[in-house]
Amino acid sequence: MSNSDTISSPFFPLPDGISILGFEASDTGLVVSITCHLSFALCPGCQQRSERIHSSYRRLVADVPSSGRQVTLALTVRKFICGVPACSHKIFTERMPDFVRPYARLTNRLLQALQDVGVATCAEAGVRLAPKLGMSVTATTLLRRMRERSVPTPDAVRILGVDDWAWRKGMTYGSILVDLERRCPIEILPDRKAETVEAWLRLHPEIEVVSRDRAGAYAEAVRKGAPQALEVADRFHLLKNLREHLRDFLLRKHTLLPEAEEVVSDAIPQKARGRPKNASSVTPPADQEKPLFRKMSASLREYEDRTTSQTQVTLAQERKQASRARRYACYEAVRELHQQDFSGREIARRLQLSRHKVMQFIQAEGFPERVPSVPKPSILDPYKP
Ligand SMILES: [Zn+2]
Repeated sequence: MSNSDTISSPFFPLPDGISILGFEASDTGLVVSITCHLSFALCPGCQQRSERIHSSYRRLVADVPSSGRQVTLALTVRKFICGVPACSHKIFTERMPDFVRPYARLTNRLLQALQDVGVATCAEAGVRLAPKLGMSVTATTLLRRMRERSVPTPDAVRILGVDDWAWRKGMTYGSILVDLERRCPIEILPDRKAETVEAWLRLHPEIEVVSRDRAGAYAEAVRKGAPQALEVADRFHLLKNLREHLRDFLLRKHTLLPEAEEVVSDAIPQKARGRPKNASSVTPPADQEKPLFRKMSASLREYEDRTTSQTQVTLAQERKQASRARRYACYEAVRELHQQDFSGREIARRLQLSRHKVMQFIQAEGFPERVPSVPKPSILDPYKP
C-alpha cells in the first residue's frame, strides 16, 4: 500500500483528520501507521494557520488493544514553519491533544482504559488483569495514571473530615479531605499547612461541621477558613487521647493496681474474665489462678518505697520509672519461681512472658537494666546544628 492511500475503518475509529496508512501484524501485536491528513496546522504560539511543512518524524505510542492484541500506533508527525514574523515559534509540531498529549507514550483512550481498570480493581490486581486485556503496564505506572485522574469535587460538602495523608510515610505528607456524609475522599492537598487547607475551606462556605485530628495547623485553618463550621475531634483521635491519658494515669497509680485488681477481679465471675492469652487448656493449679499483679504486689511496693523519695519528676521520668518498676517486678517474680525449680517454659507460661525474656532474667547476674536504644536517623538531622 502506498503512503498516499489512507484508510478509515469502523473497526479502528480515529478522530477526524487522522487516517490509517497501513497495518503490520506480528505475534505480539499490531502496529498501525497513522498520520494527520489535514493540509494545515495551527501554531501553538500565535494560533495562526500554516501550510508550510518543514519535515516529519515517527513517534510510537501505545493504544487500546484490538481483539486482545496489543496495539502500537506509529504516528507520522509533521513539523510546520510559522510565517508570522513576530511569533517566537519558527518551527512547530502539529498537535492532536484530543487523541494523544504532547510527549505522551500512550493515547488518551488507553490512559482512560487503564484508569478504569485501576479504579475498578487496584494497582496490583490491575497489573495482573491488564495484560490479559492486551494492555501492558507496571504497578507504578498504573498508580501514577490513577492519581492523574481528577476527582470531581462535589458541589456542596456539609460534613468534612480532614487528616494527614502520607505521600511517602515519614517523609512527605499532604492532607486528605473526606466528605463524611458520602463517605468518599474528595481532595488531596499537596501539604498539611494551615494556609493550604484554609484556602480550600474558603471556597466551601457551605461546610457545617469539620471533623479533624489534633494538629494545630488544621485547627487554625478551620478557625480562619471556615469560622461558621462546628469543629469536632474525630473518633479515632478522641479514643487515642483517652487511651494516652488513661495510660499515664494508670502508670502514675501503678502501685495501687494490685489492690484494685484484687477488688475488681473478685467481683467478676471467672467465666467473664476469660482465659489469659497464653494459658493452656489444662486447668491450672489453684495458686496459678492468682492474677499477675497480685503476685507482684510485694516487690512493686518494695520498689515504690525505694523510689518515692524523689518528689519532683517529669511525666517522662515518671513513665520511665514506672516501666522500670514493672520490669523489676517481673524480674523478681522470675527469680522466685526459678528458685522453686520451675522450668523456664513453665515460668514463661505462668507469668505470660516470652521464654527469651525469662532466660534473660534467669541468666543475669543482677537486674539487667534496659540499654538505651540508639536513636534512628531523622530527616531533621541535617538541620540540627
Ligand atoms: Zn506562530
